[in-house]
Amino acid sequence: MTNCPICNGKIEYKTKSITYRYKEHTIEVEQSGEYCLECQESFLSPKDLKSTKLEISNFKRKVDHFLTTDELKRIRKKLHINQQEASTVFGGGIRAFHKYETAEVTQSKPLDILLRLIDSNTISFDDIKRVAL
Ligand SMILES: [Zn+2]
Repeated sequence: MTNCPICNGKIEYKTKSITYRYKEHTIEVEQSGEYCLECQESFLSPKDLKSTKLEISNFKRKVDHFLTTDELKRIRKKLHINQQEASTVFGGGIRAFHKYETAEVTQSKPLDILLRLIDSNTISFDDIKRVAL
């Protein structure tokens, strides 16, 4: 794209500080993409959006009180299981934990609660395995 489809202004590929809003909360993200120098309209490709996806998803998870991708990974590693083993125990399909940890999908609330209870040693992973498998 060289000219803006809205105002015919000049388009430039650059990285801009963008304020992202979610439920009364805001975050500043560095968003790469094509921007019109005249009307400031942004044209973001799937690749551009992918570059901020993890950051935005984790921001939303924090707002909604869900474990972030890093927290999920930390808890899973604490249990000494890989993504596939975690998915086998907790369900959701073989790639479930891969999806949760890469922010492709957010884990369900019951799973989030369960992982928090395991993390705080309120219930043991052995107890979970006993009833899950
Ligand atoms: Zn424009």
